[in-house]
Amino acid sequence: AKRIKVDQPVVEMDGDEMTRIIWEFIKEKLILSNVDVELKYYDLGLPYRDQTDDQVTIDSAIATMKYNVAVKCATITPDEARVEEFKLKKMWKSPNGTIRNILGGTVFREPIICKNIPRLVPGWTKPITIGRHAFGDQYKATDFVITKAGKFKMVFTPADGSKGKEWEVFDFPSGGCGMGMYNTDESITGFAHSCFQYIFTCLGLLRRICCLKIWYEHRLIDDMVAQVLKSSGAFVWACKNYDGDVQSDILAQGFGSLGLMTSVLVCPDGKTIEAEAAHGTVTRHYREHQRGRPTSTNPIASIFAWTRGLEHRGKLDGNPDLIKFSQILERVCVETVETGVMTKDLAGCIHGLSNCKLNEHYVNTSDFLDVIRSNLDKALGK
Ligand code: NAD
Repeated sequence: AKRIKVDQPVVEMDGDEMTRIIWEFIKEKLILSNVDVELKYYDLGLPYRDQTDDQVTIDSAIATMKYNVAVKCATITPDEARVEEFKLKKMWKSPNGTIRNILGGTVFREPIICKNIPRLVPGWTKPITIGRHAFGDQYKATDFVITKAGKFKMVFTPADGSKGKEWEVFDFPSGGCGMGMYNTDESITGFAHSCFQYIFTCLGLLRRICCLKIWYEHRLIDDMVAQVLKSSGAFVWACKNYDGDVQSDILAQGFGSLGLMTSVLVCPDGKTIEAEAAHGTVTRHYREHQRGRPTSTNPIASIFAWTRGLEHRGKLDGNPDLIKFSQILERVCVETVETGVMTKDLAGCIHGLSNCKLNEHYVNTSDFLDVIRSNLDKALGK
């Protein structure tokens, strides 16, 4: 069969460990066998980041600004143990952080819903997407401890030399603690733009904006938490930095497995995105793999990194065949799970992990990928 031709390139960011192995299969067997796309390849695997003094990460972000679409495999963020394991020159920073600092924008996490995978919150039948304003607030705050009585004041000194302002925050009778934090109009506005861009990207109806049945509502976090628990989903939850940090982990747990959570970085221009799985490199499984043992690692969120990226490429280029392909591949993943073929993490959600038996309740990584591939071929009429 003829492959779908893609006009503009996609930036590919390779990664580490178990996800790197799965990534290779997805790229060759699911994507490139059906889609004729030029990939601008950047190896963000830890050895090559170390070899290039992390320049490859910066280059991949710059390429993303140029081509507007990137798909990223999970990568190791080194800690002391990794510095030792890989004999690194330095404890390189998180690639995701580096890329986000260059591109700006907002990370949206969205769960993939399969009907037969139970959720901790059974009412969540449609996805809840969380957007976290990842700038300023508590994470860049100045905080301190004091040990005696005294006044805590805030002072603002205008750069233009005009009269400043001073606030008394608290008159401490004895020891305590305090904090000063900030945000900027520019970042808050950018966050708001990204949130709307994400919704338009999902709906794909940018040009028919006035017909969209969407609305915006401001709620305090305590009210919102109660509403979310009672809702059935299908909304974007725009959170301030700290709330987004906490609530995104709650949502990931509530929807079942990390293997079903996608993550898309959307830039305020609405044009540039970077798509990936929300989970890491699944080191625990990789250690098994290194010992020559088969694993049952869920590739679905990594597949969705590709489909979300390609679908966006299709929208930017006006390529309906590419959009359709992406949607078919996503549907194939969900339907495969819904017909009962799944990896252990998902079987564990249904039967309890300790009750799960290989080939009765779940299959291993390579068998699962083979089933996805043959179901995709069928869906494409091959
Ligand atoms: P992880 O997400 O890789 O795995 C945590 C646990 O979740 C696993 O032990 C497994 O039980 C389960 N899990 C996660 N994804 C799964 C999948 N696809 N299929 C089946 N089970 C799955 O997180 P970790 O173990 O804390 O981190 C491992 C490495 O990943 C670290 O080096 C860390 O720096 C990196 N990491 C990278 C990213 C990223 O690139 N965005 C995000 C998180 C962690």
